[in-house]
Amino acid sequence: MSKSNKEVPKLKLNQGWNYAPAPESASHVKLKDKYDLFIGGQFVKPTSGKYFDTINPANEEKIAKVAEANTADVDKAVKAARTAYDKVWKKMPPKERGKYIYRIARLIQERAREFAVIESMDGGKPIKEARDVDVPLVANHFFYYAGWADKLQYAFPNRIPQPLGVAGQIIPWNFPLLMAAWKIAPALACGNTVVLKPAETTPLTALKLAELIQESGLPEGVVNIITGFGETGAAIVNHPGIDKIAFTGSTDVGKIIQKAVAGTNKKVTLELGGKAANIIFDDAPIDQAVEGIINGIYFNQGHVCCAGSRLFVQESVYEEVIQKLKDRIETLIVGDPMDKNTDIGAINSRQQLDNINKYLKIGADEGAEMYQSSCNLPGKGFFCKPTIFTNVAQSSRIAQEEIFGPVLTVQTFRTDDEVIEKANNTPFGLSAGVWTDKGSKIFNLTTKMRAGVVWANTYNKFDPTAPFGGYKESGFGREGGLHGLSAYLKV
Ligand code: ADP
Repeated sequence: MSKSNKEVPKLKLNQGWNYAPAPESASHVKLKDKYDLFIGGQFVKPTSGKYFDTINPANEEKIAKVAEANTADVDKAVKAARTAYDKVWKKMPPKERGKYIYRIARLIQERAREFAVIESMDGGKPIKEARDVDVPLVANHFFYYAGWADKLQYAFPNRIPQPLGVAGQIIPWNFPLLMAAWKIAPALACGNTVVLKPAETTPLTALKLAELIQESGLPEGVVNIITGFGETGAAIVNHPGIDKIAFTGSTDVGKIIQKAVAGTNKKVTLELGGKAANIIFDDAPIDQAVEGIINGIYFNQGHVCCAGSRLFVQESVYEEVIQKLKDRIETLIVGDPMDKNTDIGAINSRQQLDNINKYLKIGADEGAEMYQSSCNLPGKGFFCKPTIFTNVAQSSRIAQEEIFGPVLTVQTFRTDDEVIEKANNTPFGLSAGVWTDKGSKIFNLTTKMRAGVVWANTYNKFDPTAPFGGYKESGFGREGGLHGLSAYLKV
């Protein structure tokens, strides 16, 4: 046995004590029973009169009713955005546009706690993530792009950057408010107006953002926020008055959108699925790497397109890494997202939980070995135990398809070339992670990995200045940083 495959002492866990519950209060949160569509600076009733429920996935209780927009509502929203674009926003001096975006950023900071609580209630993510990751990043995105509004000519020297017009933006449920910020902030900074649709299971923080935008005094129609299902999204994509589509979501819907806009003048950016490889070499700081792997896959219940869902461990440290991973998932606290101790909250919807459970069965049927934490799950709501699959074949479906849940597959490798080949062998290419002591290995891997983001000795680090986006079926176009500006400009 090699030096690093030494006996790993098993941690003594669950010694009869637990953290006392530390629930975040929701008493400061103001939510209405019913939300209308935010069009032209006003909340207006949906043409069809139809509303749907948004529920709390941690207890399956209804939180509010939300309007369902049809094609007539989409048309109204696009016209409001066009009028605002032609009459106000594109003519406004960029410095003034920037001031509005700064104001939105400041208001988000002031309401940070309320936004974090609503994000956790509506989406199921642990309050500590909503509070410490999502909402601060949202404010940072608005601050960052506010700063660019009057400096676009420096971002693109010797060019005359021009806005595109009306942007249709469709976002998913994994980072509801953060995805709204990623889309709205650069679009406004570049002088575009917006029609945004949040996901049907997580509309509330976008609707609270609409209230905040109304309060900020942003000229009416510059941002329109409409709610609904896939048909509402499709109506945005197909509307002739839209100049640009920005979509984050599944690869299947991304393909539909790509076909729908083919042959039109609409510009498109797509941020789609992922199946990231997290690669751990035998010279890596193992404890730090294990913590990074845990964060990479179990963060936000694995509801992250860039989740490090495929772990590749160099053979000589395999036993040690697996033992440490098993010990660590045993200590993860799964349960009430509103409890400040919770590490893994609720799965976003019953449909998503069914999908994850389908993959757990596929993994077992394919002959992989499944290991789950021994924790108890709450009786109500949608929850899944953190899961590790070992003995996974490269060709197996659990190693090739996006599961979008707290499920890690583990494979081994011997050489750099072998792991690069295995890691690149999926239809996706959004992100990857490398854990090693050697800078030369990091550079070798980052140049050969077909992934938009490669993290070295860390994972899931986000910053508004850093571009994010994929290769292959993970989509195209970049969000964040300077690259994120060019997605909303004619240069
Ligand atoms: P996920 O699998 O992450 O839920 P989806 O791609 O189904 O991702 O959903 C992401 C967003 O796309 C949601 O806002 C959803 O309502 C919207 N959507 C679903 N189907 C379509 C479609 N055909 N055209 C446009 N938007 C759609």
